[in-house]
Amino acid sequence: MRIAVVGSGAMGSLFGAFLAESGNDVVLVDVWREHIDAINRFGLKVSGVSGERIVRVKATTNHSEVGLVDLVILFVKSYDTEQAIRDSLTMISDETIVLTCQNGVGNVERIGEVIGISHVICGATMQGATLIRPGEIFHAGSGITYIGELDGSVSERIKKIEAIFNNAGIRTEISRNIYGMIWSKLLINAGINPFGALTRLRNGELLEVPGMLELMTQAVNEGVEVAKALGIKLEIRDPVEALINTCKATAKNKNSMLQDIERGRRTEIDVINGAIVKYGRKVGVKTPVNELLTTLIRGLEKSISVG
Ligand code: NAD
Repeated sequence: MRIAVVGSGAMGSLFGAFLAESGNDVVLVDVWREHIDAINRFGLKVSGVSGERIVRVKATTNHSEVGLVDLVILFVKSYDTEQAIRDSLTMISDETIVLTCQNGVGNVERIGEVIGISHVICGATMQGATLIRPGEIFHAGSGITYIGELDGSVSERIKKIEAIFNNAGIRTEISRNIYGMIWSKLLINAGINPFGALTRLRNGELLEVPGMLELMTQAVNEGVEVAKALGIKLEIRDPVEALINTCKATAKNKNSMLQDIERGRRTEIDVINGAIVKYGRKVGVKTPVNELLTTLIRGLEKSISVG
């Protein structure tokens, strides 16, 4: 399969590496020249849970030299989604599928507005990766990737992508309730990420602060009410229990929002807690805790001159 990974940072490089190693025709596309130059000169260095290796894979900063592809995997941060899909228009024919496994909600709609929603499939991944330096990523954790058609159907195209991913060693399952899956992941992120970013505590440390879990629970429960009002069926039975288990299982981790703040980068607050606020307004559910968290993170971004 001819695949372009648009946004080949930590996650894009990880998926691109697996797919290239299993024989697909992959090109990594990223606007970060240093990173692409390093991959072209030395190969993509991968270390971590899937082992250390150097992957030879095509890489470019020029979207328009890629040509038409069967699959675009979009792995930019959510605030770059619209620009990235516009940059990628020359890769997209009537048959091209665009897959987003980005965190948060709203990416599908944003992509759909540019290329038409019928091209878009989406997913939620439990894989984890970080960028170490240009040309080098760390595979931090392995987990299932769920992909699905927006209408829940099990189409030939989704089965094909599932097979290609599994064949590449990216453990993948088709979800017939992909929005439920994405919202379930969103709730956990909403209950952890801004708290870690504001306090600079690791996930496990958050649970040790008196009163913190109560606030985290409120943030999650507001999201549960919004999801309910939207008619979304969550894929986790007890989101607060899932939140606690995630904090314990990843006790030593700094969440991605905290990492972004520490690196002086913009966060994805708008598609996580900000999305709960936005959709809450649409369906008439009050979300004061998420509103507070969103505003505080925006303030934090401003204080370090991003956003
Ligand atoms: P990242 O910052 O490492 O990578 C994003 C890349 O996109 C950057 O290298 C950037 O240069 C590139 N980019 C920006 N605009 C572009 C454009 N117009 N065209 C091409 N490239 C462009 O981010 P990441 O950690 O890989 O995360 C990507 C997405 O995946 C986010 O939505 C994140 O929430 C989600 N996610 C991340 C993880 C993780 O462990 N890192 C896990 C699950 C989901």
